[in-house]
Amino acid sequence: MNKIYSLLFVVLLICFVSTPTLWSAESVNPFSAGEVSVGKSSTSSEVSKTTATDDGIKEAAKKDEESKAKADPDVFDPPITGTVEVGNSTLNVRTGEWETVVSSLRTGDTVSIVGKKGVWYKAIINGQTRYIHMNYVSTAFKPAGKTPVVYPWQNSSSSTDAGVIISQKAIDSCGWGGVYPNEPPAKYISSPFGYRTHPVTGVRSSFHDAVDLPCVSGSRLNALASGVVTASGYESGGGNYLIIRYANGYESFYCHLLKSLVSVGDKVSAGEKVALADNTGVYTTGSHLHMRIKYNGTAVDPQKLGIPLTK
Ligand SMILES: [Zn+2]
Repeated sequence: MNKIYSLLFVVLLICFVSTPTLWSAESVNPFSAGEVSVGKSSTSSEVSKTTATDDGIKEAAKKDEESKAKADPDVFDPPITGTVEVGNSTLNVRTGEWETVVSSLRTGDTVSIVGKKGVWYKAIINGQTRYIHMNYVSTAFKPAGKTPVVYPWQNSSSSTDAGVIISQKAIDSCGWGGVYPNEPPAKYISSPFGYRTHPVTGVRSSFHDAVDLPCVSGSRLNALASGVVTASGYESGGGNYLIIRYANGYESFYCHLLKSLVSVGDKVSAGEKVALADNTGVYTTGSHLHMRIKYNGTAVDPQKLGIPLTK
């Protein structure tokens, strides 16, 4: 019995001692001024903390944006001035990379460049963001003629020829039409541009200023881009020939033709049937197209221009 009483006493004692603790922990404290105030201050500090954090985030984001804008090499803020350099040709102004041509610029025209994308400058032209190829624009940071022009249909492996293309100052006006000169396309080049032993004269290291594309007599020949026929006639070496001046500044000379199907002054477009191939003239050993491409009066290697030649 004594054990029971003493146990009861201990239990009561525990209850009595622990009750205030329970009160303070669970019931009193939440309504005590201190706790509320703490709660309030906690809340307000939470709020102010949140505000500070938001501001912090905003500030950090702003700083990040600013530093990004500063660090982003594709954004020019403030804009930089570019001067167009295309010789006597014109520079296409496009809506995007190789996209629609909306206008053109001439040598000496200045543009406000606000950024770049790949090898294209983004310039504000007539209030619109337009694309112009970097290779034809000089800025304080990069002169014209230093950006490889790789046409869309060129595969990546031929981009190694880009250096040559630069030195030839390919002019991006309408580019090339992406069409083969021969139809059907030649299977191979029988004689490339450069020094060779002439197949007829046997003269060593005569310079072949064109590519020879074997084809069937009477087969179709196409214009390479939009342009105008500037000459058509006959010469002893080349036989029947045809010269087309393209809008991109280049000029093609086709010879050994069966006949031209266009006349001087005719406007032609990429892929247009302009002549029939053959074997006319002295300097030929078989039916083929001797295709010479000139830029500013100088013959350039047609294989370096991004024109599809063989298939
Ligand atoms: Zn030839």
